[in-house]
Amino acid sequence: MAEAQKFAPKPNGAGEMFQLFRDGETHTRAELTTLTGQSRSTIAARLEMLTTLGLIGPAGEANSTGGRPPAVFAFTPAVKLVLAIDQGVTHMGIAVTDLAANVLAEHYEPSDIGAGPDRVLSRIVEVGKKLIADAGRPLTDLAAVGIGLPGPVDHSTGRPINPPIMPDWDDVDVPGILGEKLNAPVLVDNDVNIMALGEHAKAYPDVDNLLFIKIATGIGAGVIMDGELRRGARGAAGDLGHVAVLGGEERLCRCGNYGCLEALASGMALVDDLGKTDLAVTDLRDVVEAVRRGDLTASSAVRDAGRQIGEVLATCVSLFNPTLIVIGGIMSEAGNHLLAGIREVVYRRSLPLATQQLRIATTEMGSRAGIYGASVMAAEQVLSVNAIEAAINSATAS
Ligand SMILES: [Zn+2]
Repeated sequence: MAEAQKFAPKPNGAGEMFQLFRDGETHTRAELTTLTGQSRSTIAARLEMLTTLGLIGPAGEANSTGGRPPAVFAFTPAVKLVLAIDQGVTHMGIAVTDLAANVLAEHYEPSDIGAGPDRVLSRIVEVGKKLIADAGRPLTDLAAVGIGLPGPVDHSTGRPINPPIMPDWDDVDVPGILGEKLNAPVLVDNDVNIMALGEHAKAYPDVDNLLFIKIATGIGAGVIMDGELRRGARGAAGDLGHVAVLGGEERLCRCGNYGCLEALASGMALVDDLGKTDLAVTDLRDVVEAVRRGDLTASSAVRDAGRQIGEVLATCVSLFNPTLIVIGGIMSEAGNHLLAGIREVVYRRSLPLATQQLRIATTEMGSRAGIYGASVMAAEQVLSVNAIEAAINSATAS
């Protein structure tokens, strides 16, 4: 009955009733009658509408207490497709998924965000169409597109806002451009938010208060509170990279300020610092490799970076009281040294009540977190109460 409590007032439309199937639960007609308080005939009519849309299908029979066993219904996510894109600074990942973020086909390749929106988005369309064909499905099966970009995005319009590392993308109508070529609604968010969504949906669906921290070239956070992604007023919530930290007063950040967390503890800062040592690293991979083979200079630098990130996270813990902090991004692959530095400071600097149930762990989803999150974000739109009601209305009108 846990689901019933989530839905007060009780569901009365097909779109709302469908939400009872979202978590993969199966239901009989009798269960739906109990859960919604609606009559059997109303339930039958709503099941019929959802079945016509292909969103719900028969899933066998329940155990019978005598007589004919009742039919069981379930969500059928394969009915439509989502195109999920994780566009990074130097790479892109793209996948075709069903409506439950199950990957049907995927592709990864180097991609330079600096090549500008025309080239990058054209390539996404080209690869996306090929993947849909590879999955053996027509383009008309595409229900929505979700894309994460490596900069600030106004989620309501899907347009990047003054993105520092991708100036050509400022205010570009990404949903308009992709939507016209793929003939589907397009949802856009920043890369860290989609990673948080993906990690939450796939690895920790039962954790309601989670911070996802991406530590790569830069540092950012995705905030899940009460089970929902929180973007803030203009989508800038979680932009931790430019919070000032002690001891960094001399370090100029790429944002123009001094002493930002990112200038001291990001992957970029580590590459700069370790590049001046005998290690002569040139990119993030080199840093990760050096730590993994047990190099003491690299390990100690990464642990120090962890401590500095921990200082900022301790404040976040006081503010949000999360039960889980997930560390993702390339630097998370450096493993225990980073995590040890973060844990050391967070547990020391936070009040016991806030850390009593706090876990700090590295990402379970790894480089796929963004793909999953882009898919979840897009499917969320397609499967919302309003979207389903609208689909039913247009199906009955035609
Ligand atoms: Zn900065």
